[in-house]
Amino acid sequence: MLGNPTFPLLWKSDGAGPDEQALGAWCAYTGQDEYAAQNWGWLNALHPDDRSWARETWEEAYRAPTTFALVYRVQQDGLDYQSFRVQGIPRFNEEHHLLAWIVFFVPESGYNPLLDEHWELRLMNRMIYGQMVLGILCLSLDGRITRVNGRLSQLTGYTDEELLEMTLWQLVYIEDVPLQLRAMHGRLVSGRSYPPFQIRYRRKDGSAIWLRITEFLVRLPSGEPYYFFYVAEDVGKQVRAEIERSELLARVRQAHDESLARTHQLEAIFDSITDGILVCDTEGNIIQSNMAVQQIFRLDLFPGLLHMPLAQRLALLEAYDEQGQRFTQEMWPLVRLLRGEDVRGSRAVEMHLVFPDGQEAYLSYTGATLRDQDEHIVGAVVAIRDVTERRQWEGRIYNAFETLLAFAEELVDIPGFFGGATGGESAEQVPTPRVAQTAGEYLAALTCQLLGYETASISLLVPETGMFRLVAMTGFPPEEEALAREKNRTFPLSRYLDEQTIVLLHVNEAVIQDITLNLVVTRRQRSLIAPMTLEGRLVGFLSVTKRGEHPSYTEEEISLVKAVAKLVLLVMERERMQQEWIEARTNELALREANRRFDEFLSIASHELRTPLAGIKGNIQLALRRLAFMKEPEPALPEQDVLLDKLEKVLDYLRHAEHRVNVQNRMIGDLLDVSRIQANRLELMMRPCNLAAVVRDAIEDQRYTTSERVITLTPPDCHRIPVFGDADRLGQVVHNYLTNALKYSPEDKPIVVSMETLDDIDIVRVSVRDEGPGLSREDQKHVWERFYRVKNIQTQGDAAPGLGLGLHICRTIIEAHGGKFGLESAPGEGSTFWFTLPLVKDTRPAPEQQAPAFQQSTPG
Ligand code: ADP
Repeated sequence: MLGNPTFPLLWKSDGAGPDEQALGAWCAYTGQDEYAAQNWGWLNALHPDDRSWARETWEEAYRAPTTFALVYRVQQDGLDYQSFRVQGIPRFNEEHHLLAWIVFFVPESGYNPLLDEHWELRLMNRMIYGQMVLGILCLSLDGRITRVNGRLSQLTGYTDEELLEMTLWQLVYIEDVPLQLRAMHGRLVSGRSYPPFQIRYRRKDGSAIWLRITEFLVRLPSGEPYYFFYVAEDVGKQVRAEIERSELLARVRQAHDESLARTHQLEAIFDSITDGILVCDTEGNIIQSNMAVQQIFRLDLFPGLLHMPLAQRLALLEAYDEQGQRFTQEMWPLVRLLRGEDVRGSRAVEMHLVFPDGQEAYLSYTGATLRDQDEHIVGAVVAIRDVTERRQWEGRIYNAFETLLAFAEELVDIPGFFGGATGGESAEQVPTPRVAQTAGEYLAALTCQLLGYETASISLLVPETGMFRLVAMTGFPPEEEALAREKNRTFPLSRYLDEQTIVLLHVNEAVIQDITLNLVVTRRQRSLIAPMTLEGRLVGFLSVTKRGEHPSYTEEEISLVKAVAKLVLLVMERERMQQEWIEARTNELALREANRRFDEFLSIASHELRTPLAGIKGNIQLALRRLAFMKEPEPALPEQDVLLDKLEKVLDYLRHAEHRVNVQNRMIGDLLDVSRIQANRLELMMRPCNLAAVVRDAIEDQRYTTSERVITLTPPDCHRIPVFGDADRLGQVVHNYLTNALKYSPEDKPIVVSMETLDDIDIVRVSVRDEGPGLSREDQKHVWERFYRVKNIQTQGDAAPGLGLGLHICRTIIEAHGGKFGLESAPGEGSTFWFTLPLVKDTRPAPEQQAPAFQQSTPG
């Protein structure tokens, strides 16, 4: 039968037919076959008059979709039509999509409790329905509302009349229909009592009301279900409170979870901090600490430390400040913080801690006082950093620098420490590589020792080739060192270093590179290479390696090695310069000694030569005078003519001898002068004098000795040229120029001496021009030098070639007078030797002239 409220049929959502499970029931009742019932075919089981509006009603409901109710006639299999009240309730899924319809078919002829009521019930009704605290409603088994009380009208907002026209399905909130169905179904099928349930009903204004329903199933005396009796209690407030409570609970839970997560996070952070963190109360008891504290205070060895009272804890640890003074309890950072003192930033406390077992640590303390809202101290938080490693490192760096500096100072104090001058080597040996090698080896070994490296090597640039040479290595196996030393070859940087490394070294950057060394055994080592640069040029590098497979080098190490490289270079450079200085000094001393000896020799030689010459000259002159006297004619003497001839010959010899003696004398004079010049002992008698007279006298002298030569003076009538100087020495210059002109030019060629005063610049110029062989450019450059003589030059007659000193003396004398000298000449075109001197105003006494390097004396 269709009308069993226990089993409402499920209808397809669009109403086109019963769903698969309901199809059987439908077909069993109507006698339709399953195929015919589908796709609206089920309508054919309806009375023809009902078919079209039944379909319209379905379709309308589908569009809405909403609960609907209608009555239509259904033909029972081969029998008559029977009238059914049909109710459709839409069923949705969670997304509120219409899934199906729940359809109740209730025969119109069914029992109507409204029409037929027992008197007991009526009594009960009066009692129950009258009270206004609880809502009451009676429902037919398919959910039609058959009775309500005023309270329910109040709760739902519908009037009694309206409610009696409705079914429960219109009242129940669509989402709660399954719950309602379960309750009714459970009661009808199993007879189980369903506990009171909370459900939402829809009020007339569309709002929801939460009701707590207690359901009763009233049965007929036969036991057949008769109708439902519902007691509805407004639980809106409770539900709201419940919802709020549960929301609140959820929020609390969420907050709790979040704070738990946050706490875990914080704890993780707290523990991951490498500084030790202690949180203490006002008594200094430790409330919280992180992992780092365990390591810093070595809690594995002193487990109870953190739980001790403050005083006991501090008594156990010995602490000293930077000056080595012991911390009293009052001085401890925590105690200070609890007193409200600041221990942050620059006030951080560094302490040297000694544990009970004697182990030491250097700790840096910072912290903050914790205060409540009223600024009362409630505790302190302390951050402790273990700086032991840093301190040790600082110590090492400090020691390294100290030692290196001490070493450098040592080198400064002991000249020639690295051999060279005192090493007993001969001067021919090139000293630099030796110095570099010895100094380098010492420094390399020192570097290794001080910095704790396994190997160190120093390579230097060979400037001539641009290649590098390994000058020192230490820490390598002896056979490798020996081999490297034996080879002693130079190498380009690119043999061991890659391009980028080389570029970096050139810009004075230290680099870490894996270097493959191919000595006795091929091996790779990770080296730290520091450049050695001098005036921005790469002149070498220091390479060090640490022990271990893949050592790493810290920033500090890199800086230190760079500094060491610089120091090494400076020390080596200093050594090299010292070496060069020693050599230069040695050479200079040797030269000075040679000069001194030479000058000594000259003066002795001059003296020794001149003294006998003076004697010879005296004798010659005496002989000449006597012979001249003998030439006087004495008529009484026989063979007088013959004798006179012989005498004349002897006189010739003697004159020639006198000339030779004069030449010798002049040469010796030159030697003496040069020797004086060298010894800075050439004395000048400076006074106002007449240069014209000096020149004339010199010419006259020459005319006297070489009367056959033509010497002209231009202008011939110049009589006064005032200068300030040593007339004898100036005469010596003119004499020398003239002697040379006569000596080197043909006898038939004249010599022209000129004097020119350039008044506008107050200068006089004296020149001696000859028509001799002239001088090449090269010779012109050198003729003023000591002992310079032009090769293969011819002298006239019996003139002696000279020592090459005359012009040097002239130059010195002119320079000492503040004048200039020079010559104009070309091969084959004769020469003009000249000098200039400053003029002085005629009548006034001239100012004193400066002639550095010479001792001057001015008479009276
Ligand atoms: P010396 O005593 O040898 O002449 P000097 O110093 O006076 O030495 O001259 C240096 C050299 O210069 C001479 O040896 C000679 O070769 C060259 N010399 C000097 N004067 C003349 C000149 N007037 N003509 C050509 N050569 C000259």
